[in-house]
Amino acid sequence: MTAKLILGTEIREVILKEIEEEVKEIKAKYGKVPGLVTILVGSNPASVSYVTLKIQTAQRLGFHEVQDTRPENMSEAELLALIDKYNKDDLIHGILVQLPLPKHIDEKKVLNAIDPDKDVDGFHPINVGRLMIGGSEVKFPPCTPAGIQELIVRSGVPTDGAEVVVVGRSNIVGKPIAVMMMQKGPGANATVTVVHTATKDLAFHCKRADILIVAAGVPGLVKPEWIKPGACVIDVGVNRVGEKISEKTGKKVPILRGDVDFEAAKEIAGWITPVPGGVGPMTITMLMKNTLKSLKYKLGLM
Ligand code: NAP
Repeated sequence: MTAKLILGTEIREVILKEIEEEVKEIKAKYGKVPGLVTILVGSNPASVSYVTLKIQTAQRLGFHEVQDTRPENMSEAELLALIDKYNKDDLIHGILVQLPLPKHIDEKKVLNAIDPDKDVDGFHPINVGRLMIGGSEVKFPPCTPAGIQELIVRSGVPTDGAEVVVVGRSNIVGKPIAVMMMQKGPGANATVTVVHTATKDLAFHCKRADILIVAAGVPGLVKPEWIKPGACVIDVGVNRVGEKISEKTGKKVPILRGDVDFEAAKEIAGWITPVPGGVGPMTITMLMKNTLKSLKYKLGLM
């Protein structure tokens, strides 16, 4: 069997087009556009490139976009005051603080200071609670899990009553996607198992999965013989396993590998995401979707 590829690069374009259309409609009717501020403290190269991508995507969609870059030595109190300013800014509907923050700043304190109604990353405890309750309580599902669910649904993978196995229990991927897939409702309603480093027999659980979601950060952890024939395999892992020279730019770029042995797994699975080009492109897309949702809540459209 050769699996159907689930390409985040393609699904992203469809969703971005939908967002762009909706932004135009809302602008024409209400004279408002979604506003997103990206706060970057310091100049960590990986953070700078993530933030640049977010800004470019927001601009492409016609958002009001603010990039607020501050020096590495900014104090925690100054950052909290800045967040307070954006919490009160009516043109801003989404506040994103790029992580990691410098060591002298308490990340938890900063994330908790964001108005939960502008927390488009979905990391504030109030939004985590809303996600757990499910249904119409959910305002901003965290972006990577929301992207995973979109990939599954838009690829026509049946979820109702499916056995979903999630490898990993992090707060940003494993736990939220497990909660989302077990909720009652479309695109979910699955029977979910979460496995981690204390799990006795990883292979046993993976082999039972109709949908296997792997977010461990261990290259090639999932072996092809652990995959049930015809299963949907979502590989969230992004692992740098070396460097190569880019044909496009002539510069050194990282060689990325997922948590699944892709070449062998694609001959067994029914659907599979590649790395890169699978889950990765969905995260920023869902951030944009959450920012648009935030404006729609404000306008009473949701
Ligand atoms: P994390 O916080 O390091 O959590 C990894 C989880 O995997 C932990 O729960 C850990 O178990 C479990 N795990 C690790 N090794 C395992 C093993 N050998 N067997 C079973 N479970 C194992 O990682 P994360 O932030 O969730 O990220 C996971 C991967 O996804 C990384 O490669 C990351 O780069 C990638 N990622 C991609 C995106 C994207 O594409 N947009 C977004 C986020 C993350 P314990 O809890 O027992 O330690």
